[in-house]
Order: sequence, then structure tokens, then C-alpha cells
Amino acid sequence: MLVTMAEVLERAYEGNYGVTAPNIQNENMARSVINVAEELNAPMIVDINAWVHPDIPWLVGFVRDLAYRASVPVAINLDHGKTYEQVMLGIRSGFTSVMVDRSDMAYEDNVRETKEVVKMCTPLGISVEAELGHVGQGDNYDVDGISDLTVPAEARRFIDETGVDCLAVAVGTAHGRYKGTPHIDFDRLSAIRKAVGLVPLVLHGGSGTGDENLRKAVHSGIQKVNLATELVTAGKESMENYLENNPKWDKWRLMPAFDEGYSDRLAHYVRLFGQDGEAW
Ligand SMILES: [Zn+2]
Repeated sequence: MLVTMAEVLERAYEGNYGVTAPNIQNENMARSVINVAEELNAPMIVDINAWVHPDIPWLVGFVRDLAYRASVPVAINLDHGKTYEQVMLGIRSGFTSVMVDRSDMAYEDNVRETKEVVKMCTPLGISVEAELGHVGQGDNYDVDGISDLTVPAEARRFIDETGVDCLAVAVGTAHGRYKGTPHIDFDRLSAIRKAVGLVPLVLHGGSGTGDENLRKAVHSGIQKVNLATELVTAGKESMENYLENNPKWDKWRLMPAFDEGYSDRLAHYVRLFGQDGEAW
């Protein structure tokens, strides 16, 4: 069943659980994600970046078809729409949600551009995610992990001014691999949750953040957790294991080995966040 991300996240808020948003790049990953969701009877958000595939409209059309036929609710979200063109491509491609990421701009510019996207998407029934504060890169963690964190009062104001459906916040996570140990500012996260009321919150940079941190983040008010690096790494390791154990490897078993590692890691997080059994 194809649904909007707003619906998935509203229910997650009410049900007090988190939802994984794995980034996919191709058919295999899309199938893995939806298979995991069906096996665990979980609602799911498929995240796709505009630049990861040469034919985004085709890929989104394919995922929409899988979602229609799935026994569980599936939302498809354009991850990090950095430009007007990417957001328009997202709308045309059939995403049920788009992220407009202007988190590297000044507050007023972020508001203005996010508002513009909300105005375009609302009549089309497409939900919108924006980012306030800036989630940086793990390989620059000593700087990015403590700078541009989300200010709770600004988060409230931003939501009121833009009308976004959910908000990605910077509370100490980072994209990619962490150089150093991740420290989540849980006091800040709780203060943001209190300030924004019922609006769902998103955590980018889930990979490598650690089970305890992520579980606590979900209990402190996060409804969506983005995951990319760690799932792909698990797929790669599973493929390497297969090759190591099978010197005369079968060419048709190589990709399935990747898919298995990717899926197992995703299933781990689905259970960790309590999203299993929550499909409707
Ligand atoms: Zn991100």
C-alpha cells in the first residue's frame, strides 16, 4: 500500500515507535526493504537521493509498483532535495514525500525556500520534510558534531512559518562514518520535542550511532531514522564473506549475498525501533 510519509510518521508518534528510512539505489535494495517490511509487518519509508540513479522517474515508478502490491504501508521520500530542480524531479517522479534541504542557508532563506516547496506539494498530497540546524559529515565530526545544532525555539517558529510535515534536527549525529564517538545531545532533543508538540522529528546519520543512542533517540521524540552507510556496509561484508567461503563462487549468488546482509541489518533496526507489527 502506497502512503504519504506524514501518515506513517503521525502513527509512529501516536504509537511511540520509530520508523527506519533506508536509502536505496536500485531494484535489489528496494525489494530487500519491502521484503523486510512485509516479513516484520512494519510500515516503511523508502528514501532515495536524486543523484544515486540515472533514471529517478523509472526507479520511483518501480518502487511505487512494489508499494502498491505490498501488504504493508510504504512511503517514498526524496532524500535531501538540495535544489529546486531536484524537488521538481521528485514531484514529477511520484515520490509521496520530498525533503527540501536548505539547512546550509541562513534561517530566513531556509524558511522562504521551504515554504515555496510546501506550497507546491500540499495541493498534490505530497508531504514535506525540511531540516533546521545542519547535520554534517562524520569524517568532520569533531566540528560538525557540535556546530549548527537545532535551537528548540527556532524549530517551533520554523514549523509555524513553513507548515512542514516533519523536521530533521541536528542533535549530534552525522552522515557517513563517524571519526570519533558520536555524542547525542538528548537534553536538546527533549527540548525540541517539547517545543514542537505533535510534529514528527527526523534523525539523519543513523549509521554507526549505536543501538543505545538510537533507541534513546526514538524514546526522546524521534519518529524517523535515516540509514544508508551501515546497511550498504553490511551488504558489502556479507558479499565478502560469501566470496571468502566460496572460492569457486557462483555469479548468481553474489548479489543475493549483498541483499541478505543489507536486509538483516535493516531488520535489526526495524525491531530496535519497535516498528515491527505496526503495519495497518
Ligand atoms: Zn541526511
